[in-house]
Amino acid sequence: MNVAAGTEAGIRILVVEDDAGIAQSLVRGLARAGYTVDTAATGADALAAPPADVVLLDLGLPDLDGVEVCRTLRRRGDAAIIAVTARSEERDRVATLDSGADDYLVKPFGLAELLARVRAVLRRVRPSGPGLYVHGPLTVDPRTRRVTVSGAEVTLTPKEFDIIECLATDPGRVVSRQELLERAWDANWYGPTKVLDVHIAALRRKLGVEGLVETVYGRGFRLGTAPQTPAAPPAPPRG
Ligand code: CA
Repeated sequence: MNVAAGTEAGIRILVVEDDAGIAQSLVRGLARAGYTVDTAATGADALAAPPADVVLLDLGLPDLDGVEVCRTLRRRGDAAIIAVTARSEERDRVATLDSGADDYLVKPFGLAELLARVRAVLRRVRPSGPGLYVHGPLTVDPRTRRVTVSGAEVTLTPKEFDIIECLATDPGRVVSRQELLERAWDANWYGPTKVLDVHIAALRRKLGVEGLVETVYGRGFRLGTAPQTPAAPPAPPRG
């Protein structure tokens, strides 16, 4: 079992997956999203692991039947369980949900969908969710997906929101272009990365704060350390 330290929110996710390559990419994606991640490669390891907020449970395990592991985890605690399966037959999905899973994902799936499903089960088990991210004049609310600048709401597209949320979870850290693409699009985005520049430009225009989203040449983007609050509108004439 290994542990990848996350930076945010103190939410623990247990990844139960016997394929080391898949496990590694899941751990990387979840840790980047700010979660603290444990892994287990067998059903026995999963049952011996410390309590988690969310369990991502591969049903095809080398030792135990994944559905049985799911049932045992459900009896023991209130972790949200997302079953991951290569089986897409309706009866398998029904058996999985009946065994106590909160949701399931059919392989192959993209990181963006996985993260969205994790957020969705967390909203159900922890209605308060992670708190607001505040950076200078900017606030980002991951629960309601609302963004404000100096108290005024800014309407963003879902991708623009994913980008600013990713930057806001750890202000000052340089986020690579690849990471932003994985976060806002999909783990398997092989298209032109120019699409990211288009969204960053639109985001900057909408936020309207000079220096808030900084380009770090050759490395990526980060939230600036000294964003300039937009000039206040002229005061109404006194009367
Ligand atoms: Ca497996």
